[in-house]
Amino acid sequence: NDIILSVKDLKKYFPVKHSIFGYKVGDVKAVDGVSFDIRRGESFGLVGESGSGKSTTGRTILRLLEKTSGEVTFKGADLYSLDRKQMREMRPKMQFIFQDPFSSLNPRMRIGDALVEAIVDHGLASKAEAREKAVQVLRICGLSDYHMERFPHEFSGGQRQRIGIARAMMMDPEFIVADEPVSALDVSIQAQIINLFSDLQEQRSLTYLFISHDLSVVEHLCNRIAVMYLGNIVEIADRDELFSRPLHPYTKALLSAVPVPDPTRKRERIILKGDIPNPADPPSGCKFHTRCPFAVERCRTEVPEFRSVGGDHAVACHLVEV
Ligand code: SF4
Ligand code: MG
Repeated sequence: NDIILSVKDLKKYFPVKHSIFGYKVGDVKAVDGVSFDIRRGESFGLVGESGSGKSTTGRTILRLLEKTSGEVTFKGADLYSLDRKQMREMRPKMQFIFQDPFSSLNPRMRIGDALVEAIVDHGLASKAEAREKAVQVLRICGLSDYHMERFPHEFSGGQRQRIGIARAMMMDPEFIVADEPVSALDVSIQAQIINLFSDLQEQRSLTYLFISHDLSVVEHLCNRIAVMYLGNIVEIADRDELFSRPLHPYTKALLSAVPVPDPTRKRERIILKGDIPNPADPPSGCKFHTRCPFAVERCRTEVPEFRSVGGDHAVACHLVEV
């Protein structure tokens, strides 16, 4: 199983400035020491509530944001040691898909031109080749050549996301970070877009990092899932293992919100109180202790180690025996 992406102790801090005088008063530790590997051809889910640091992790991995510290290795290359030119060559291989792809599209540019622009700019094709390719890619993504001449505002939410996906596919990527790509869509449309992701993965042997706040979204697409809380990964497991044997109380709480198809397979129900704490001032010890129904005294002072419980399952909780 070869590893396409390796993330080691990645940190991304944002300075917090004094509201009047502007000097630095602290850091928001959005990503606070995250490590994981993604194998070629897999679909790796990253879940957690909004504010857990998922998006920042995804962006820092692709260098859309610069890291504070840690390592990101993509296809054997230390991404942060690449210079501008090398990074530009690497760029097409690793694409980012946004929740609302239209926030990054020019409203006055026809879809066809927008699709063509990126690969022509990268010198990957001539204009004529790129147009031909754009038509093919639109078809693969469930649209047609008719849509080449249309403008962004003429599309529905689901179609917009198909265009966002098409734009990424123009670059023949190997690895895609998709950040909440279906969260803004109606549930009926969500399934269609998830199926599109899944078909493309098969046809083009893609690798995904799929970010969502919703476990039921990653359940159908992802073979492995990591759960994030306040800047840390608290549990990683194969999908089936995570759904049948969640170990971290936070994972159990997230699963409580996912409907069980078979009612005889009861899940432990944990309802979380309160919101995610301020990441500029996170709780001591286990950052989850302020909301954890099982917290004991040592949880307030001691940071739980992220440990393997066997196979591909790892968790950070004092109460889990290994
Ligand atoms: Fe809960 Fe303690 Fe485990 Fe943290 S370490 S999840 S507070 S039991
Ligand atoms: Mg986000």
